[in-house]
Amino acid sequence: MYKTIRLKEGKEASVYRRHQWIFSGAIDHIDPKITEGSVVEVVDYKGNFLAIGYYYNSSIAIKILSFTKQAIDNKFWQDKIKNAFFYRYKALNIPNKQTNAFRLFNAEGDGIPGLIIDIYDDLAVIQSHNDFIASNIDKIVAALKNIPHEIKYFYHKSNQYLKNIPDTFIGEKCESPKLILENNLGFYIDFINGQKTGFFLDQRENRNFLLQIAKEKKILNLFSYTGAFSVYAYSANALKCTNVDISEPALTLAQKNIEMNFGKNTQTTYINSDVFDFLEKNNETYDIIVVDPPAFAKSRDKQEIALQSYKKLNEAAIKFLNKNGILLTFSCSQVIPREKFQQAVFIAAANIKRSCRIIKQFYQSPDHPIDLFHPESEYLKGLALYFD
Ligand code: SAH
Repeated sequence: MYKTIRLKEGKEASVYRRHQWIFSGAIDHIDPKITEGSVVEVVDYKGNFLAIGYYYNSSIAIKILSFTKQAIDNKFWQDKIKNAFFYRYKALNIPNKQTNAFRLFNAEGDGIPGLIIDIYDDLAVIQSHNDFIASNIDKIVAALKNIPHEIKYFYHKSNQYLKNIPDTFIGEKCESPKLILENNLGFYIDFINGQKTGFFLDQRENRNFLLQIAKEKKILNLFSYTGAFSVYAYSANALKCTNVDISEPALTLAQKNIEMNFGKNTQTTYINSDVFDFLEKNNETYDIIVVDPPAFAKSRDKQEIALQSYKKLNEAAIKFLNKNGILLTFSCSQVIPREKFQQAVFIAAANIKRSCRIIKQFYQSPDHPIDLFHPESEYLKGLALYFD
């Protein structure tokens, strides 16, 4: 059906274990007519069928779309997207009356490497990480029109990854920022100018944890973006939130979000600064500090430098934690394993010489599923730490 790529003897094992990536070193022979971004059939050294995937001339050469022989046609996109929706709807009970924003499709975690779809009420923001996915955008939109959740607007936002594809609506346009509900709290999402698809849906459950502990607390929200952690904290009657972010528009939206939910009389501070600079000058202390930086390491070779940054950042933050204070600290770098992150935080805390208990481990919310056979889909890790 598709042109074939033959693997070296023994290299079929990872496909049997249902891992979705095939590295270039595993390849024995490529049909010379295969072009980049095309669908291919993968066979073992004897020519037996293994999988259907798409090919690029890079270190991860093939990303698998199916472990059975099937056409990558309309039905394929329909089935995958419907399946992803029903996982959220049936297993997670989202969307629901309190929450109408969720990740509908999470790349490998839902069986199509390179495809992300976030739903903001009746808007779908679609991210294609390569030209193969982008070239199927019409099939993806058609499939989205078929799920039992009404989507009126479609925004293809892939320019960050694909310089040749401008960000654009497909069909009718709508306003940005767009209002959504998460756990009955309102948020404006600037899906056009904001980061990623506009909002960090992966932190939903972790923000709920803050809600449990924030009552009457003084909170420092570092890398606050549009203030989501602070909004949750105020809904639990936090005393005061200080938001720090390098992005001015993000802070403007944070203020809009806090005022929409709680009015103008909260004791909120918005500080437009680099977090490291802020921590050098700061002289206030806090009961809870949230540290949710962007990914410090985008590739494996940056791991060590990133770990140094996590250590430095957490050490600087812990200094301003009151007695019996709680640190919520995160890493969203996919290439930093949980143990290494915990070790970086361990060194930071040891340098401060305060005893510390782990209250909780954090993960990405379950609408960002991790394929059991593809542990690389786990990227968000975090710790809630109690300091005496
Ligand atoms: N906690 C947020 C998400 C944080 S995303 C939420 O729950 O929505 C990371 C944020 O860090 C972005 O808003 C980005 O503008 C900000 N940022 C990146 N580098 C920074 C730096 N050096 N100092 C301050 N903010 C930074």
